[in-house]
Amino acid sequence: MTTHPTALYLHLPFCLRKCAYCDFASAALEDAGGMPAARRYLEALFIEVDCRAMSDEFYGAPVRTVYLGGGTPTILPPDWTAELLTRLRHRFPLEPDAEITIEANPGTVDEDTIAALLSAGVNRLSLGVQSFSDEVLQTLGRVHSSGEAREAISAARAAGCANLNLDLMFGIPGQSVEQWKDTLRHTLDAEPEHISLYALSVEPGTPLSCSISAGDLPATDDDLAADMYEAAQEVLARAGYEHYEISNFARAGSQCRHNRIYWADEEYLGLGASAHSFRGQIRWNNNADPGVYTEWIGRGRLPVARAEALSVSERVGEMLMLTLRRAEGVSSDEIAARCGLSPEEVFSEEVERLCQGGMLLAEDGILRIPPEKWLVSNEVLRRFVR
Ligand code: SF4
Repeated sequence: MTTHPTALYLHLPFCLRKCAYCDFASAALEDAGGMPAARRYLEALFIEVDCRAMSDEFYGAPVRTVYLGGGTPTILPPDWTAELLTRLRHRFPLEPDAEITIEANPGTVDEDTIAALLSAGVNRLSLGVQSFSDEVLQTLGRVHSSGEAREAISAARAAGCANLNLDLMFGIPGQSVEQWKDTLRHTLDAEPEHISLYALSVEPGTPLSCSISAGDLPATDDDLAADMYEAAQEVLARAGYEHYEISNFARAGSQCRHNRIYWADEEYLGLGASAHSFRGQIRWNNNADPGVYTEWIGRGRLPVARAEALSVSERVGEMLMLTLRRAEGVSSDEIAARCGLSPEEVFSEEVERLCQGGMLLAEDGILRIPPEKWLVSNEVLRRFVR
């Protein structure tokens, strides 16, 4: 029995169809065997929930947050989600004020669906809007239109959702700064509690990458993407959103508690295909293929594909890479207390060089990336890979 709290991530990997840029662990539902295969997957997920809840590491662990991610969790019937949450409640002590998020995509939710999810216990909805430009949505190969995005937002509010995140993407081939500013304007009109924005990363082998290689789409433009990020920083700050993490903005009191657990380098349990976990200096991940995941569980085997114990220097590096994403940065003493060595002991040269170059600030024992360098934060974070 442990009293050490945890955060749960559950992966629901099915989508209506694959988006042109997507290399996440997800599959078009029809290609993966349709609803019968999704149901078999869910039954396997129930078994993994049971096994982990009874394990020495997690038995009795209070759960502070639950995140249902994907994929598109909302293409499954809401009563399946309710079943899953009931299962979790029976197996883990969910804290009474646990944050329970579900990812949803426009075109897969209406007011009734969202109302059913809220009454099942979901209290935060993360909507994959990406853009309010139909042209941009088409480039991304999204299944929804900007009109459907607006409908989904209205449906969420009408159903009583009081904690709404909108996911946006920028730096998309052919996207203009004006189109991006227009998306920001529509986003502010929706008054979400939280906004996440990500620069498009073109992954090899995706249809989008092939279209760029074939000359059917222009390549991404880093300078333009930088202008878009800066425009978002300015517009969202003016509208009262706190830029609390490189890619995330929130109204006061609405920061994502689940993701803050990751960025604080605290422990979490991932369940389902491809899900990652971290507990007691060990990290592991499950097999990414939903069919293989289901089959392994069916054979009485844990679905773990890889597990590794981290060395002290890897722990320090990983903690830096996560905590430096936050506006507040991290205290060197905290890293030393949790990992056994301080950043200055493991990465003395890197820390010194980054501070001299203005990429990192070290003040009163706190390390942080100055906001004007967040756009190029990868330059800082990759120095701590061991
Ligand atoms: S909805 Fe998300 S997970 Fe599904 S295909 Fe599109 S980008 Fe990938």
